Amino acid sequence: MEKINDLRELLKHELNDLYSAETQMIDALPDLIKSATSKQLKAALSDHLKVTQSQKTRLDKVRKLLNDEKVEEKKGFFANLFSSKEGEEHCKAMEGLIKEAHSLTDEDMTPEVMDAAIIAAAQKVEHYEISSYGTAKAYAMQLGLVEVAQLLNATLDEEYAADDSLTVLAVGKVNLDAGATKKIPVHKSLQASAAPVVKKTPAKKTTNKKSSTGTRTAATSKSATKNKKTTR
Ligand code: FE
Ligand code: ZN
Ligand code: FE
Ligand code: FE
Repeated sequence: MEKINDLRELLKHELNDLYSAETQMIDALPDLIKSATSKQLKAALSDHLKVTQSQKTRLDKVRKLLNDEKVEEKKGFFANLFSSKEGEEHCKAMEGLIKEAHSLTDEDMTPEVMDAAIIAAAQKVEHYEISSYGTAKAYAMQLGLVEVAQLLNATLDEEYAADDSLTVLAVGKVNLDAGATKKIPVHKSLQASAAPVVKKTPAKKTTNKKSSTGTRTAATSKSATKNKKTTR
């Protein structure tokens, strides 16, 4: 690939990578939905499939915004060089996460344990996306690309919401169904980590009805705590 000379080019690279990631997830989610048993989990994943499709469309818009500026800068001559196509970048991280998810769903598990495993795999994907969109948004802000940053932030919020809804499902039901029998009091050292409150800007459109019930940080650390308690 071409040499990356500045933050704008790095942003474009990241956006192409994300485009590949979303495309791969659109292909992979139907299998995960099929492997899930819990109605709520199937619904949450199906919701997120729709959201993911619109995220891909949003990325098209973002890349177009960036490319249009480039077209002006380059007086149209190199315009074609900047029209990014699908498949120009392949997100190996998403490929790995999806492979790992499939190797889990290929295992012989009871339906309840399978649901817990699917949530874990899906949350790894959401965390990867949260990290990548967070980075891309930061680059856009640094570059003064306000509209780009806003669009990326809308997706970032949706990924947070998806992650939250999975946490709520895991902690509230799936992990319990998977074989946790008793509620163990949370150790002080773990409670402390649930403290900071992350403020979220509201997503433009949250298709997921079961989205964030609290702050993400609290929810996530709660799930980490719960998982630790219930899977060992
Ligand atoms: Fe996504
Ligand atoms: Zn690359
Ligand atoms: Fe990637
Ligand atoms: Fe996602």
